[in-house]
Amino acid sequence: MNSARIHDNLRSVRERIAAAAARSGRDPSAVSLVAVTKRRPVEQVRALIEAGAVDLGENYPQELWGKVAALADSPAIRWHLIGHLQGNKAGRTLPMVRMIHAVDSLKLLRALDGLADDVVEPPEVCLQVNTSGEEAKHGWRDDAILEDAEAIAACARIPVVGLMTMAARGTDAETARPSFARLRAIRDELRLRTGLALPRLSMGMSHDFEAAVAEGATLVRVGSALFEGVEP
Ligand SMILES: *Cc1c(COP(=O)(O)O)cnc(C)c1O
Repeated sequence: MNSARIHDNLRSVRERIAAAAARSGRDPSAVSLVAVTKRRPVEQVRALIEAGAVDLGENYPQELWGKVAALADSPAIRWHLIGHLQGNKAGRTLPMVRMIHAVDSLKLLRALDGLADDVVEPPEVCLQVNTSGEEAKHGWRDDAILEDAEAIAACARIPVVGLMTMAARGTDAETARPSFARLRAIRDELRLRTGLALPRLSMGMSHDFEAAVAEGATLVRVGSALFEGVEP
């Protein structure tokens, strides 16, 4: 029952991503879906994998470690850490993930850069920018990240591939859109100042991913829409 529903939800989210890409003249394959599995039991994550999900996102390092261990028999999974990472959990987390989406300070970036040489294939990282101005959100405050361009470029051992943001609480797709446009503009400027290509924009969640795709998202992080109608 649940697995049929999860299968349908995944297909529907994929179709909506493709339609949003087509509407803005983008190639749908330029947008990757990161299926967010936080607070979902392993059986439901398995259903998602069987339905074809490959990129899975977790918020909390400890929960990530548990899921990685429980799903070690599914080697095709690419794990993404999408939430805040404390420096003391970085060493253990680094070898498990393909991407860290929410590097929210120069201090953390430098710590990851220092650890990268110990990992066979260090994960790619995105830097989190607080485009909504909410106090509760992590990350560089808007274009304050530009002041750190030189220091970011100096972290050459960890691959910095782009930026990540979250829209303000309570926004819908249309009211979230300026946040996404802002992230893209800051990325364009940071690209000039660092000389890094920064191809990735990680933005868009269940209630606003179509607007994010319209503004250039290359990674959308979708959780609840995939589990609609499925009790946690
Ligand atoms: C939970 C979470 C998501 C997914 O949110 P949904 O609204 O469930 O799609 C995406 N990104 C981050 C950082 C999250 O914490």
